[in-house]
Amino acid sequence: MHEASNLVLERRFSSAIAEVHAKLLTGPWQVSILTTPQLRRYRNRGFQHGWRLVIPHGEGTLDFDVLVTEHFPHQPPRISLATLQRFLVWPHVEEDGVLCLLSSEATINSARPGEVTLSLLQDALQLVLESEIGNNQQDFRNEFTTYWGRKCPEQCIPVWSLLSPDQESRLIPFWSGKEFCLIGESTEQLEHWLNNATKKRISGSREYRQGILLPLPQLPCPKDFPKNGRDLIACIEQSNAKHLIESIHQEGLEGYLAVLAGKTPTGTAFGGVIARVQEKLRYPAERRGGSIIDGFRPGKAPKEVVQSQIKSSLSISLTTVERADALWIHGRGSDPKVKTLQSSTIAILGCGSIGSHLAFLLAEAGVGKLVLCDPEPLKWANVGRHALASDSVGTSKAKSLATTLKNSYPSSVGFDGYCKTWEGLASSMPEKLLTCDLLIAATGNWTTEASLNAWRKTADFRQPLLYCWAEAFAAAGHAIAIFPDDGCLQCGFSPLGLPKLSVTSWSEKTILQEAGCDTSFQPYGPIALSHIVSLAAELALDCLLGSVCESTERIWCGNKRLAKDNGGTWSEEWKSLVGDREQGSFTQELPWVPDKNCLECSFI
Ligand SMILES: [Zn+2]
Repeated sequence: MHEASNLVLERRFSSAIAEVHAKLLTGPWQVSILTTPQLRRYRNRGFQHGWRLVIPHGEGTLDFDVLVTEHFPHQPPRISLATLQRFLVWPHVEEDGVLCLLSSEATINSARPGEVTLSLLQDALQLVLESEIGNNQQDFRNEFTTYWGRKCPEQCIPVWSLLSPDQESRLIPFWSGKEFCLIGESTEQLEHWLNNATKKRISGSREYRQGILLPLPQLPCPKDFPKNGRDLIACIEQSNAKHLIESIHQEGLEGYLAVLAGKTPTGTAFGGVIARVQEKLRYPAERRGGSIIDGFRPGKAPKEVVQSQIKSSLSISLTTVERADALWIHGRGSDPKVKTLQSSTIAILGCGSIGSHLAFLLAEAGVGKLVLCDPEPLKWANVGRHALASDSVGTSKAKSLATTLKNSYPSSVGFDGYCKTWEGLASSMPEKLLTCDLLIAATGNWTTEASLNAWRKTADFRQPLLYCWAEAFAAAGHAIAIFPDDGCLQCGFSPLGLPKLSVTSWSEKTILQEAGCDTSFQPYGPIALSHIVSLAAELALDCLLGSVCESTERIWCGNKRLAKDNGGTWSEEWKSLVGDREQGSFTQELPWVPDKNCLECSFI
C-alpha cells in the first residue's frame, strides 16, 4: 500500500515537472535544467529539481532559478535570484536568494503546475522591478521584527519585553539572565514577573540595570540598522532622548540596553541594541588608581569630556526583542477588551474538574486577577479530568493551580490560591470575595452553593454571581449568571436542591460512590465536560465585558448519543421547551426568571 501510494506521488511529480518544463520553453528566456551542484547551493531546502532562466532585463539579463521539492506540485515552486545577492537589500529575499512570494496561508492550484509557475515568475519579476526603483522599502518596516532578527547574531540572548507599547522615550529597567533578558516599565514589574515564572530556571542575581527606550518616528530599513556606537547615538538623537542618555553615560558605565520602537501595521515592534563601553573606560577612576580620562585627575574630568569619550568608545550588537506583555499575549495588541479583562478580578470557588479548566481558559483569555478557592488536595482520581496533572498530586488544588497559572502567564496581575472552603475565605478574608468583579461557583454541591446564594444577600455583594454545573455524564450543563436584585439561585431550584429545569432524565441513579470512602462523584469524561467549561467561561466574559447585564441561564445540550449510551434521554420539560431538536449539540439561552414565591429572595 505504502509503495503503491509512493509510486502515485512520483508519477504526479514527474508529470508536473514535464508540464512546467513545456510551459517554460514557451517563455521569452533561455531555459536550462539545474545540475546537482547547482541545486546543492540551496542547503537544507530539499529541492529535487530546478531550472535556470536567463531573462533579458534592461541592458543585460536577470537569472532566476525555479526550484521544486519532492512535494511538488502540492507545494508551490520557489523562485530564487540565482546570481544576485540582495539579502536585506530588497525585501522578501532570503539569505540564499530564494524569494518569499506567497504568504504561508496561500493556496495554489496543484492541478495546474505550469500556470502556477508562470504566475509566480510574474510576481518575482514584479518584485525585482519594484525593488530596483526602491518602491517597496516600506515592506521592510512593516516586517521590521523579521528583518531585525536576521541581523542579530545566532547566539544573541533574546530580550522579552513587558513594555507598554506607547511612544515615549524613557529610561527602562532590565534584568539579564543566561537564557533571556527582561525589560519592563519598573523594577517592581520585573520582580513580579520573575517571581511568577518559577519554572523558567532563572539563575543569577536579581540585579536590575538601566536601559533606554527609543521610539523612532519611522523604523529603519536593514541598510540603516545601527552598525556602531555612532549610529546608536544618531538613533538616540532622532528619538529626542539626548537628555536621558546623559544620565546613563556616566563614568564607570559598562554598557546598557537600548530598545528601538516603532509602529508597524500589526502593532508596535521593538529591536534591541546592546551597547558596550570600551574596557579602559569602564571602571571608576578611584578603583583603577589612576585617571580613566587622559589629562584629568580621577573623577575630575568634566562631564562633557566623559560623555564624548563614552560616545566614541561604544561598540554595539543587535538582539531580538519579543513582546511578552499581557496586551500582546492575549490579543496581539489589537483587542481592546484585553485591557478590561486585565483589570478584572474573578473568584472561582471550587477548583475541581470544571473550576480548574475554567481558571485556565479565563487566564488564557486575559483575565488579570483570579482568586482560586478550594479546600481539597489533588488526588490521583482527579487527574483524568482536572487541569492539573500528576506532578500536583497531594498538593492543594487551589494553590497549585495558582502557581501553574502564574508560570503560564507571568505578566498577569495576580493569581492567588486559597486552600479553604469558600465560607472559610469569606469569614477570614471577606475582601478577597467582596472586591471581585464576578464570583463563579463551581463546587458541584447544592448545600455549598445554596449558602453562597444566601451570603450574597447578607454580604450585599453587588456583582454578578455565576453558577455552573454538569448533568450526569456531562450530557448537558448549565451556566447561570445572577445579577443583584434579579432573582437568586434558589428561584430555579426546589427546596431540596433539584433544578426546576433539567435537560436529561435517567432511569437509574447516576451519582456514584467511590469505593471505601464517602466521596461521591458524577461519572463524566473530560471531552464531554469541555463544552460546559466553555459555556461557563463565555458567560463569565460576557458578564465582565457588559454584554450580559441581567440574570441569564445558558444551557449546553450535548450530543444525544452521549445520554442514550448511558441510559438517559431528554426530559419532558426540555423537549417541550426546545421542540424537535432531538439530536442535541447546541446551546440555549434563557432568562433566569425570579420566582415570586422564592423564600431566599423574600428573606430579610
Ligand atoms: Zn430567589
